[in-house]
Amino acid sequence: MSKLRVLVGVKRTLDYMLKPRINPAKTAVDLTGQKMSINPFCDIAVEEAIRIKETQKDRVEDTLVVTAGPSASEQILRQSLAKGMQRASLIDVGNKELEPLSVAKLLKAMVEKEKSNLVILGKQAIDDDAHQTGGMLAAMLGWPQFTSASKVAFDGDKVVVTREIDGGAETLSSPLPAVITTDLRLNVPRFANLAKIMKARKAPLGKLTPEELGVPIENRLQTLSVEEPVSKRHNIMVKNVDEFVNTLKDLNAL
Ligand code: AMP
Repeated sequence: MSKLRVLVGVKRTLDYMLKPRINPAKTAVDLTGQKMSINPFCDIAVEEAIRIKETQKDRVEDTLVVTAGPSASEQILRQSLAKGMQRASLIDVGNKELEPLSVAKLLKAMVEKEKSNLVILGKQAIDDDAHQTGGMLAAMLGWPQFTSASKVAFDGDKVVVTREIDGGAETLSSPLPAVITTDLRLNVPRFANLAKIMKARKAPLGKLTPEELGVPIENRLQTLSVEEPVSKRHNIMVKNVDEFVNTLKDLNAL
């Protein structure tokens, strides 16, 4: 059986408990002073890699967590190390905005450098809800892709993935290498204990730049505007048809 070299891509996003605020220029979500955390789907990807390491002990050669972002993203790497990932690498892009295509190119370069044969990503990052990186990465690598996984297992050299689909579940398998993206039901991420958090604070991190990976960051999209969702209208209860018609007239809806 081939050894497993698992690479997990994680993104630092606005904490999922916070309500996003739009900046006054309406060009982006205002992140000033906001709590940033690991994207929840990425936390599930980390948990799955650790569970694979724990259950497939003799097979797993490496579990590497990678993020592309500013240096502050180190925090989510250290958190993943504290939970049980073996190595972590930051692709330091400074304050540059990253589009999913650039992320996929950076991750492809990392996969090739690290000789990974199983990539686990979140199905989407909750900031842009782009849902694109996994598909782009699988296409560029020419690897099979399992999206929205709710169960991951192994059968010899094959990976067997269950995905939730409309009206049921679908189970697919393919030989490695492969890309898997995680859905919420795949697992419940663990918390790291304090001793492991303290140890991970001092753990060495790999650091790379896009230039070192030979991937220039080129953005192709221009944000024209960012709007708040339309707030729900206040519901009005009416007692009868006459009142209903009068209410519509009052609202200039007739
Ligand atoms: P997206 O396509 O932006 O919705 O992101 C889907 C998944 O791609 C995320 O859950 C991560 O696993 C991965 N990903 C997105 N952005 C990054 C990043 N900057 N660094 C590493 N992985 C990322």
